[in-house]
Amino acid sequence: MVQTYKHEPFTDFSQETNKTDYLTGLKTVKAYLGQDYDLVIGGERISTEDKIISYNPANKEEVIGRVSKADRELAEKAMKAADEAFTTWKKVKAEVRADVLFKAAAIIRRRKHEFSALLTKEAGKPWNEADADTAEAIDFMEFYARQMLLLKDGVPVQSRPNEDNRYDYIPLGVGIIISPWNFPFAIMAGTTVAAIVTGNTVLLKPASTTPVVAAKFVEVMEEAGLPKGVLNFVPGSGAEVGDYLVDHPRTRFVSFTGSREVGTRIFERASKVNEGQIWLKRVIAEMGGKDTIVVDKEADLELAAQSIVKSAFSFSGQKCSACSRAVIVEDVYDQVLNRAVELTKELTVGNPEDKNNFTGPVIDQNAFKKIIEYIEIGKEEGRLMVGGEGDDSTGYFVKPTIIADLEPKARLMQEEIFGPVVAFSKAKDFDQAIEIANNTDYGLTGAVITSNRTNMEKAREDFHVGNLYFNRGCTGAIVGYQPFGGFNMSGTDSKAGGPDYLVLHMQGKTTSEMY
Ligand code: GLU
Repeated sequence: MVQTYKHEPFTDFSQETNKTDYLTGLKTVKAYLGQDYDLVIGGERISTEDKIISYNPANKEEVIGRVSKADRELAEKAMKAADEAFTTWKKVKAEVRADVLFKAAAIIRRRKHEFSALLTKEAGKPWNEADADTAEAIDFMEFYARQMLLLKDGVPVQSRPNEDNRYDYIPLGVGIIISPWNFPFAIMAGTTVAAIVTGNTVLLKPASTTPVVAAKFVEVMEEAGLPKGVLNFVPGSGAEVGDYLVDHPRTRFVSFTGSREVGTRIFERASKVNEGQIWLKRVIAEMGGKDTIVVDKEADLELAAQSIVKSAFSFSGQKCSACSRAVIVEDVYDQVLNRAVELTKELTVGNPEDKNNFTGPVIDQNAFKKIIEYIEIGKEEGRLMVGGEGDDSTGYFVKPTIIADLEPKARLMQEEIFGPVVAFSKAKDFDQAIEIANNTDYGLTGAVITSNRTNMEKAREDFHVGNLYFNRGCTGAIVGYQPFGGFNMSGTDSKAGGPDYLVLHMQGKTTSEMY
């Protein structure tokens, strides 16, 4: 009997035993730092000369692992392996496929703190953020396995007398999974297992900054009994391997999470029908955000300031759901701004292995440089209130930064920074606040802090984002509770962890028999 889905609870690190468990996880990870990881193609482990070196962003000297790098030839080999495995995997019963996910979830649960510690090392995640990432990876497996069980016999359709009509979902084929570094476990694993449990086979190309956690996940899937060739591990460069696979005539779909720039590129390339291709490719893309917290004049202002600060600065703002704009009705603007500045001054930035640090580094040198450049732009466009500097001597640390008094059209209010920077803007009333909130190319998350029911209902209708939250922050969607994904330039309107996500990886087949 499959139990009802419940999300994996977060760990309470104020408990000594949990602290000890996490530190034990960290020791386990330290013991395997710097190791080599192979490609996995059709179950075969292949080591290449050329490697992706994964570094600790909090300590540039520390190598997390050295991961083999696929080139076009190996990508082609992986495509053949996936294509071949599809002929058998698509016929494996849905219950068996779901069972692999249940087993993998159980294995990860047993090694939970080891995985979280690895996320701290490889992605710079503080304990609680790493723990949430691991919990979400488990959730995706538990949730999608159950969703598949609901879909396994298709969905009912009408039949006339002497007619037997059925509507079933069948898999698509080979999928390319291109996953991000900011949820290097949850989103990497979630997008992979959604494709696999629906009967497809995949080539997984993880982000080049976080390939080790992906290699560890592939091992777990093998241990859980996934047949060879279903999940092929092909880290590599976007220009060499990414484009090649997106263009490949045997690619049936691409599931991508990452920047708008790369997502748009994939969408365009995938739309071209190449020689030998007999289908139109499907693209599932989860891209950026420029997410706003709106504060009404009738609102709990302490909650507003707390929500803005937490949503803007946890994991150094490196979430596509992060609050990067606070739009506040003028009557309470100064009060919320001043309180947010006070709270931000209390935040500590440093090595995330130290539990007392609120946040760690940003992911790499490029991110650091880009964020610092935006802060400079912000200083010209608005008023720097707190933060405004970084230190990349040992790792890539940027102080949580608030820039105030921005015009709605300012670059800081429009462009995704993906770092610990939040722009404050004043609105004359609630209606104008919603107008400003909608005034972006994106539409991912948003939050409204208000105690006015009429305004809340207005926002529910008019605030055009895929995930809208009331009287809380705008990050931290839970699988199965708050399906996650946005509108407009935030992606293809898909909802990860939602009831219709798996269907995106399948096609409906109608059969009609007369008797
Ligand atoms: N699902 C995450 C959240 O709700 C964000 C995912 C992302 O940043 O890509 O905070």
